[in-house]
Amino acid sequence: MRLYNTLSGKKERIVQFKDGPLHMFVCGPTVYDDPHIGNARTFVMFDALVRAMRGLGYQVIYLQNITDIDDRIIARAADEEVSWEVIARRYEKVYMNNVRSLNATAVDTYARATDYIPDIVEQVKLLIKKKHAYKIEGDGYYFDLSTFPAYGKLSRRTSLQAEDGVSRIDDSDKKKNRGDFCLWKFSKSGEPSWKTELGAGRPGWHIEDTAITNHFFGPQYDIHGGGLDLKFPHHEAEIAQAEAAYGKRPFVKTWVHAGLITVGGHKMSKSLNNFMTINEMLEKFSPDTFRLLVLSHHYRSPMDYTDELMRNNEEAYRGILKFLAKCLHMMSAPRKAQGVRHKADEEIEPIPLEEIAPEIETMAKQFTASLEDDFNTPGGLAAIFSFMSVVNPRLFKLSKVAAAAAYHAVSAHLGTLGLTISFPKIPKNISDLMKSREAFRRRAQFMESDRLRKQLDSLGYSIEDTPEGPFIWKEF
Ligand SMILES: [Zn+2]
Repeated sequence: MRLYNTLSGKKERIVQFKDGPLHMFVCGPTVYDDPHIGNARTFVMFDALVRAMRGLGYQVIYLQNITDIDDRIIARAADEEVSWEVIARRYEKVYMNNVRSLNATAVDTYARATDYIPDIVEQVKLLIKKKHAYKIEGDGYYFDLSTFPAYGKLSRRTSLQAEDGVSRIDDSDKKKNRGDFCLWKFSKSGEPSWKTELGAGRPGWHIEDTAITNHFFGPQYDIHGGGLDLKFPHHEAEIAQAEAAYGKRPFVKTWVHAGLITVGGHKMSKSLNNFMTINEMLEKFSPDTFRLLVLSHHYRSPMDYTDELMRNNEEAYRGILKFLAKCLHMMSAPRKAQGVRHKADEEIEPIPLEEIAPEIETMAKQFTASLEDDFNTPGGLAAIFSFMSVVNPRLFKLSKVAAAAAYHAVSAHLGTLGLTISFPKIPKNISDLMKSREAFRRRAQFMESDRLRKQLDSLGYSIEDTPEGPFIWKEF
């Protein structure tokens, strides 16, 4: 598999530091509020990437951190007059529920920042010892950017451009260089703090990632992912911390960044009234619809969210499910329906597997080649859709074996991307109506059977007669 590496600016074959499982880390959530659909895009995208890599034969260990101590958590706790832990645990729970709902469950290990304070302290001590960090009395320990000339290599900035007025930065007029960032903040009164050798305080924003990855993976690992908005200064700071502390470079081989989301053409913001949480989105649409929207964009491209686009994707996903339901129907129906059959039915020779096997192979090749080429999910989906459009007109003529092969091929590809398969239930009154209609039809009482078909239609169910009996579908 080749991925676009932000560090080199090129698509590169994935190369590991060492044999064994591939080590991958993705920046997790800061748990201070309900996660929004921008967060969801990143987490769904990396979930699908890991699933695809596993599908392609990579053994991946997928690690994510949870930032459970942070200025925004502290501010919210003060607002609500509760402890930081109440806020952090509450929104961690929301996040985990969202992750389960979105089927973004490929993560092997979640690591909370506050569970790794000793690792964080060790890393800061190492940076102090190697003279990459200095102390500002009453404030904290800062990374000295003048000691790390490579700063900016990921985002292609210099340390002089280290602040852009937009990014989260650490403010202090006593810093040596403008872009210096905080490693350890001394606690002010009333703030949460950990008593450590560095003094009572809490970690800066960037240090938890490198402490956690060093704990699990060591000083170098294979893939680091995150949203594009984290590239600078956050990921740049991570490189500085890890490479300065351990003297090994590169800290990470491949940096993968997910594109950002807009809603209705604008950056999401509460003041524009286009801010949408994952829960709000899931009240209207299914997790598979959202995943299909995410995967129908290349992961590095910007993605716009609108209800109309979601409805289009909903429609497209129902089309896939209907295709699979038809395959199942052809696989499971009794071979010979009894009684009178349409003349046309009698003439049909089932299409053998050999006839659609080349189409299945073409789909599989296109699907795999697309994913291997910088995780081109729109290409992968196109392979599935074009297979369906070729097979659909012949679907009710497939032999059981051919239908089963089509079903398994499509569902396996969907599974590789983390899309799930569930069919609308057919209630008993509907299947009873269908049986009565079929009985009329077998007795060649076509007026009666047509009447029941219209009744089913008005209830939202369509019927198609097939050589294996009627296929019924809820038209949502
Ligand atoms: Zn991070």
